[in-house]
Amino acid sequence: MRYISTRDTEGRAGKGFSDILLEGLAADGGLYLPESYPQVDAATLETWRELLAHQGYSALAFEIVRLFVDDIPEADLRGIVTRAYDPVKFLDPAVVPVTRLSDGLWLAHLSNGPSAAFKDMAMQLLGELFAYELARRGETITIVGATSGDTGSSAEYALKDKPGVHVFMLSPRGRMTPFQQAQMFSIDDERIVNIAVDGVFDDCQDLVKEINADAAFKARYRIGAVNSINWARLMAQVVYYFAAWLQVSDGGPVSFSVPSGNFGNIAAGHIARQMGLPIHRLILATNENNVLEEFFRTGVYRVRGSAETLATSSPSMDISKASNFERFVFDLLGRDAARLRELFVDDLADGEFDLSGADEFRGQLDRFGFVSGTSTHQDRLAQIRRVYEADKVTIDPHTADAVQVAQTSGVQGPIVVLETALPVKFADTIVEAIGMVPPRPARFDGIEDLPRHVVDLPCDVDALRSLIAERMPEFSGGASEEPGR
Ligand SMILES: *Cc1c(COP(=O)(O)O)cnc(C)c1O
Repeated sequence: MRYISTRDTEGRAGKGFSDILLEGLAADGGLYLPESYPQVDAATLETWRELLAHQGYSALAFEIVRLFVDDIPEADLRGIVTRAYDPVKFLDPAVVPVTRLSDGLWLAHLSNGPSAAFKDMAMQLLGELFAYELARRGETITIVGATSGDTGSSAEYALKDKPGVHVFMLSPRGRMTPFQQAQMFSIDDERIVNIAVDGVFDDCQDLVKEINADAAFKARYRIGAVNSINWARLMAQVVYYFAAWLQVSDGGPVSFSVPSGNFGNIAAGHIARQMGLPIHRLILATNENNVLEEFFRTGVYRVRGSAETLATSSPSMDISKASNFERFVFDLLGRDAARLRELFVDDLADGEFDLSGADEFRGQLDRFGFVSGTSTHQDRLAQIRRVYEADKVTIDPHTADAVQVAQTSGVQGPIVVLETALPVKFADTIVEAIGMVPPRPARFDGIEDLPRHVVDLPCDVDALRSLIAERMPEFSGGASEEPGR
């Protein structure tokens, strides 16, 4: 399997999985996708149904991942996948159990991992793949990232204790929920450095960009990223669409309702559908930050500035532009990289592109099955309350957005709502909705009382450079600056 960039207008030869794993963004600014999607037929799905039932989630994950990875020996790949989805790391040994609500909706529970958010589903595999590939190459990597909540803790739980990996994670001081702060800051590993920046999330992200723009510094410390545009994260997420379908369907089509921000989660659903999984509709749910809902309704993709991005009670969906969206548009346009460049490079320079008149957009529903809807704070509260009263199940605010949009979508047939976080992460909103503190899994008992490992930093790139240099003295002598990798 070879991988190509969405912006490659020169027809360059595709790259292998291991190369794009560490590279992230392509050099031409595009995102990697497989040259073609492997196809899965009904007979294979039936074999996988048995496999999932008898050997569990990681056995299914291995069968799917191997379709995309042919440059890691099979035995090694099986070990990587088995470690990533070891049931002991998840609150339920099924890893992704599916339950049914009395209103007929299904819930696929993606938030049973170490940090209690669906990002673990991808990050656990990414952590194992990074550790393996770095060891194979004799290299190290320094992850410098920014987080407003879920990504940081998910990355840290996945990367701690991984040889060859250092993490510097920036977050806006005092702006994460107390639970999210406790999750990250309680991690005790000298190679994981939490940095509380005097600023907002955008300031943190700007610091990361500045560090990455300093080519010499970047090369000296081998700076890399684990952001949501990494292909391996999407690949990992494809697996749970299959796992949920196998638990709900006896062969017929199923729709999925997905709480969406950066379009990573639902892009994996698109890929599963392209592989032949019988998915009827992909229901894209946004909160008040509706840049994606607007596109599927109107054909106009209009990115927002940070001033126009609202802080909502489903904060992990508060985005102004969707970093994975380019992958879907590439497929929508029949993989025409020149046209894609016009939209994402030329038109987006002015803040928007318009496909409302394009045949591809008009035929979208039949070919790709996307429908969309939005939800508000009041909708979230009402759905959390309704589901609690009907079933004594507490859903988190992001999942509530997807329940709301599923219910109002008019889509027929079975719908699986992807649950993306445990309610304990967003306790204030749950209290507002049902007057009760959400249940807390025993593994998180008392994390607020553990010693905090965090460094305060002014919003200043030189201060960040000094901190990295100080924590990584082994690289400052210049011995590691040999050319090549
Ligand atoms: C990241 C996140 C989302 C949004 O997922 P995307 O892949 O960015 O669309 C939704 N809910 C929760 C809880 C998240 O952490």
